[in-house]
Amino acid sequence: DAGAGDEDDNVIVPGTAPGFEPFQMNVDGELVGFDIDLLEAVVAETDYELGDWEELEFDSLQPALENGNIDVIAAAMTITEERQESIAFSEPYYSADQSVLVQTGGDVQAEELEDLEGLEVGAQSGTTGEGIVDEELGDAVDYTSYDNYVLAVEELERGTLDAIVIDEPVGDSFAGDRDVEVAFTFETGEEYGFAIRQGEEEIQDALSEGIEAVEESGEYDEITQEWFGE
Ligand code: GLN
Repeated sequence: DAGAGDEDDNVIVPGTAPGFEPFQMNVDGELVGFDIDLLEAVVAETDYELGDWEELEFDSLQPALENGNIDVIAAAMTITEERQESIAFSEPYYSADQSVLVQTGGDVQAEELEDLEGLEVGAQSGTTGEGIVDEELGDAVDYTSYDNYVLAVEELERGTLDAIVIDEPVGDSFAGDRDVEVAFTFETGEEYGFAIRQGEEEIQDALSEGIEAVEESGEYDEITQEWFGE
């Protein structure tokens, strides 16, 4: 019986966390980026419709998904075993490693993670970058957690923070338009997926098939070209 209720069932509300260029940013009040375009293209391949985007802090996305305020996360979110204990993911749509950012022309000389020992290091709350600092460096660094990487990058530019651990493509982007530079990159082999609630197999399969479809149609390459120019 195709009532309005059935139509509502087909609407999935997306959530993201701007400030993570070029995947999701708010430019002059408009939400744009690779993940925004990609999810819109992917959902267009399915029987679902996208609702209005919710913009949250990265750390708030998973709780918002679990409590039903949003239905899908598109936020360059790495598929991890820990996250898969409570949420599920589509097939991967992007691969990334991590970088360490420092102030351009500043005093910090670093070529590997151990070189950050004794320094003030930051990352965005709830990210894999934060997890790496915690696991690899622990108490050896003076760690600060930021709600958003943009705030951490601003501290780096001011010289009030020594280094940031951040996804490599995003580090490259900040290095391109702010007074920060990539000190070094290290391999983590992370893969981004669209996150959904566990047990939502229909949405999960639709998103995974949608990703495959936009890869085959050439749309994925067009979106990559637009945001990465490659
Ligand atoms: N890929 C990283 C993670 O999943 C960072 C994502 C982000 O900050 N938007 O934790």
